[in-house]
Amino acid sequence: MENDNILEKLKEADMVLVGLGEDFDDIKCLSESEAYRNGKELLEESGYRWAIPAWNEYCSERIGHHSVRIALEKLEKLVHDKNYFIVSVSTNNIIETIPWKKEKVVMPCGNNTKKQCVKGCAGELFEVTEEDKRLLKEAFEQLYDGKFPERGIPSLGRCSQCGGNIILNNIYAESYNENGYLEKWQLYTKWLQGTLNHKLIILELGVSLRFPSVIRWPFEKIAFFNNKASIYRINEKLYQMTEELSGKGIGIAQNAIDWINDL
Ligand SMILES: [Zn+2]
Repeated sequence: MENDNILEKLKEADMVLVGLGEDFDDIKCLSESEAYRNGKELLEESGYRWAIPAWNEYCSERIGHHSVRIALEKLEKLVHDKNYFIVSVSTNNIIETIPWKKEKVVMPCGNNTKKQCVKGCAGELFEVTEEDKRLLKEAFEQLYDGKFPERGIPSLGRCSQCGGNIILNNIYAESYNENGYLEKWQLYTKWLQGTLNHKLIILELGVSLRFPSVIRWPFEKIAFFNNKASIYRINEKLYQMTEELSGKGIGIAQNAIDWINDL
């Protein structure tokens, strides 16, 4: 019933703002795997948190779980004809492989497609190569079998400025180099300015309270100040909507991937 209502609103909307959260990291499914959980713990304990997005991807593929991709492809079809923007705190690089309109996705937490200096030397960002992927895969194969690779997770090169290790460019890096997304972030903030006075539907999908200043709080503010906005918060546990927004939207207590795939 409520979903019919949301689909109706989506049809009427001029603009659609979508926030993708941690549900899109596929943690719900991955966490059921002991090999995944153990590997993640080992990466965290040994100072290789930057490898977690790549570990997530490796395990999703190894387990053969595709519901995140299926959900994202369905979401793309739902918003296809709209003027939309996607902002993600998930680090799943599948998000970037969906055929969204050009320059309409920003991933401020990074993922596993770019690499940086471990010390965050400014300006030094590179594309991850096939050789990097092969090295990581080799290490992950051992990790999946419960053995931490003897030499640790391989460095993906040397920084030309400081000689430090090259690692993946994402929020888990100790000195996260944020240059990887800033250009797209500017496009996003400009797009946001154009939403005022337009019929806007806001879909906040599976976003936790880990980085509330990226999606949750600004989305609430945008919904509050736009009289033609409606907001839907889909989240298994943190689905409650603030009182000021009670007339504008609702929260639905469901995992966001399941919600999209059930629509
Ligand atoms: Zn450096």
